[in-house]
Amino acid sequence: MAFSRHELENLLRLVTLTKDVELNCEECLALVAEFAEQHLAGKSIRAGLQAVEEHLAVCDECREEYEALQQTLAEIDGDL
Ligand SMILES: [Zn+2]
Repeated sequence: MAFSRHELENLLRLVTLTKDVELNCEECLALVAEFAEQHLAGKSIRAGLQAVEEHLAVCDECREEYEALQQTLAEIDGDL
């Protein structure tokens, strides 16, 4: 299978990104509150938090934590 130059560049970029931003669960959970707040506020997720998003995409444990937190924040928001 042959890749075009453009596809190859994209692929390489993805690989690099994944290596750069790999978080462990502890690091991810430390940022998850900030991530959830920004996400709910409709703000764009700044670069540092993209690592969280990527970790959540592959880690069920942290995603559950994030979803619970998001739920809580949404309820608090609704009360105001
Ligand atoms: Zn995790």
